[in-house]
Amino acid sequence: SQDKKVALVTGGNRGIGYELVKQLALNGFQVILTSRNPEMGYKAAQKLKESDLSVSFLLMDVDNQESIRQAASTVKERYGRLDVLINNAGVYLDENEKLLTMDPFILEKTMATNFFGVYHVIYSFIPLMQKQGYGRIINVSSGYGEMREMTDQGVGAYKLSKLALNGLTQLIAAELNGNIKINAVCPGWVSTDMGGSSAPRTPDQAAKSILWLATIGRDGPNGGFFRDGKLISW
Ligand code: NDP
Repeated sequence: SQDKKVALVTGGNRGIGYELVKQLALNGFQVILTSRNPEMGYKAAQKLKESDLSVSFLLMDVDNQESIRQAASTVKERYGRLDVLINNAGVYLDENEKLLTMDPFILEKTMATNFFGVYHVIYSFIPLMQKQGYGRIINVSSGYGEMREMTDQGVGAYKLSKLALNGLTQLIAAELNGNIKINAVCPGWVSTDMGGSSAPRTPDQAAKSILWLATIGRDGPNGGFFRDGKLISW
C-alpha cells in the first residue's frame, strides 16, 4: 500500500492514452501505463520515467481475458489499490463498409476490443475499487456512438461498439453505489494514428478534456457521456 493515488490507462503506449498517462503523472498520480505490446509499452513508460514521472509499465491486452486477470492480480500485489481506471484502448477497423457486406470479423474484432475489452477490464479491476470504497472509471467513447449516427451509413462496427460502450457505462453506473463513479467521454477529433493528421485537436488537448473526470468529487456525475465538460444526450 502507498500514499499516492494509483491510476491505470489502457492503450497507454501512444495517442491519447500516452498523453493521459503523462498528465495523470504530472498531476501527482502513480500511473500504470498498460499496453498489449511489451516493447512499445516499456519504451513509452521509460520515456516518461526519464522526465522523473511516476510511471510504470504493465502488459495488458484488452482482447485477452487471461492477460487482464494477470494484470489485475499484479496491480493488487504491487500497489494494493486502484483509484482511477481509464479505458482508452480502442480500434477503428472499418473502411466505410456496411454491416451487410463487410467481413464479419471486423465487427467481432471491434466489439472484442472497444466493448468486451472494456467490460472485462472493469470486471477484473473493480474489486480493487470496491475494497477501498473509492474509484473513478472513465470510458473513452466517441460522438460516433450517439444514436443519431446509427441512421447514417458507414463505420458500422465502430459506431456500434461505442453506442454499446455508452450503454455499458450507464448500466454499470446504475449498479454502483457509494463513492465509485463511471462516466464516458468523447475526446473530440484528435490527431493520432486513429484520428489522422488533419484532426484539429492535439492529444494533449484531448487528454485535458478527459481528465477532469478523474478527480470529480463525491457529488460528481455518474453514468454520463461528456464532451468538453458538457453532458451529451446520446
Ligand atoms: P490510436 O490508434 O492512436 O491508439 C490506440 C491505442 O489503443 C494504442 O495504444 C493501441 O495499442 C491500443 N489498443 C488497441 N487494441 C488494444 C488491445 N487489444 N489491447 C490493448 N491496447 C490496445 O487511437 P487514439 O489515441 O486516437 O484513440 C484512443 C481512444 O479514443 C479510442 O478508444 C478511440 O476510439 C477514441 N477516440 C478517438 C478519436 C480520435 O479522433 N482520435 C475520436 C473519438 C474517440 P497498439 O499500439 O498496440 O496498437
